[in-house]
Amino acid sequence: MATIDSTTTAIGPQTQAVIDVFDRYVVPNYKRFPVCLVRGEGSRVWDAEGTEYLDLFPGWGCNLLGHCPEPVVRAVQEQVARLIHVPNSWYTEPQGEWARLLSERSFGGQAFFCNSGTEANEAAIKLVRLRTDGRKYKLVTFKGGFHGRTMGSVTATAQPKYHEGLGPMLAGFQYAPHGDLAAVEKLIDDQTGGILVEPILGEGGVVPAPEGFLQGLRRICDERDLLLVFDEVQCGCGRTGKWFGYQHFGVTPDVITLAKSLCAGIAGGAMLTTVELAKHLRPGMHASTFGGNPIAAAAGIAAIEMIEREKLLDHVEHTAAIFRERMLELKERCDVVRDVRVLGMMIGIELSIDGAAVVQACLDKNLLVNATQGRVIRLLPAMTLTEAEVHEGCDRLAAAIVEVATRSEG
Ligand SMILES: *Cc1c(COP(=O)(O)O)cnc(C)c1O
Repeated sequence: MATIDSTTTAIGPQTQAVIDVFDRYVVPNYKRFPVCLVRGEGSRVWDAEGTEYLDLFPGWGCNLLGHCPEPVVRAVQEQVARLIHVPNSWYTEPQGEWARLLSERSFGGQAFFCNSGTEANEAAIKLVRLRTDGRKYKLVTFKGGFHGRTMGSVTATAQPKYHEGLGPMLAGFQYAPHGDLAAVEKLIDDQTGGILVEPILGEGGVVPAPEGFLQGLRRICDERDLLLVFDEVQCGCGRTGKWFGYQHFGVTPDVITLAKSLCAGIAGGAMLTTVELAKHLRPGMHASTFGGNPIAAAAGIAAIEMIEREKLLDHVEHTAAIFRERMLELKERCDVVRDVRVLGMMIGIELSIDGAAVVQACLDKNLLVNATQGRVIRLLPAMTLTEAEVHEGCDRLAAAIVEVATRSEG
């Protein structure tokens, strides 16, 4: 049984019926809350028993524009009725248009499309190796990072807990402490081809790169002829109030990887790189059957257009400021709150108490949040979250934290 204990909520009959099917037929590789979600709209989602939740973690960071954003729904509906899928042996108009929109909002390069974050990182790993025909095959990555679950990306992920029982891992990955430029310099040798880093750690607890760190990596890459790869699967696509995480730091990478938010909830991934480097991913060396399919492209285009039409990058800065103020106010009066990190709609609240207990207390208040790294409450709210919803969410979250803190003391 992988159902997470719910202390107060009784499991309703509709939900229990679904859980029974899962227990019999679905591989039990996830821990799941005993809640069956059936419908969503904006930052609200409803379960099979009719209970309404405020969702500050919609789609694990994928539903950037909330549940079922109308322009994305419409674009997908129109596209799915016209052309569902054709292989990459043909041209389609949406894929080209999508690449153009991404290029114009990043560093003017080209896009390779795939279906997930791990796949985008695999493309980047291959690009690093292909650039030198495998001579410089090694990559430096960082402790606390997360890059996905396929064998290349999971090897790129430094924490031993992700590798348990999977060995032998892919050769050529070396891990440095996050933020430690001297350690990076020490690891680099003639066979090093690149550095892979999240500009803002996501699973690692919503931690932005420390001052000067990304600049230092850029300098090292320039001096040693290495590719600088930014994994922006979690922080990219507008979530932080800028199109891409790197744009907060004044450092331009050679490659960025995207997924999660990219298609506002439809599966899609991308690797962006310069025109010059893109040549190394030559025909026959890499592919993805569903990559850049018309439905993902239609969703990706609609998401970018909606963000611009509704001025959501500006809106995010406004809502982020309210979150920051509310959570700092909580920190003042509640000493279990150790740190508050707000980067647009990417929010980490570091506690000195168990995050899972707070997540459960929030669920009991019909509020969906996440905990990572044991003690960090992570919110990846929709860019469309309203001011009233920020306050409602902060009220419930603050009450849950205070409640768990009081219980832990007593
Ligand atoms: C989620 C995530 C991935 C993996 O993405 P999948 O779509 O699950 O393969 C990779 N990198 C980062 C930073 C992520 O947050």
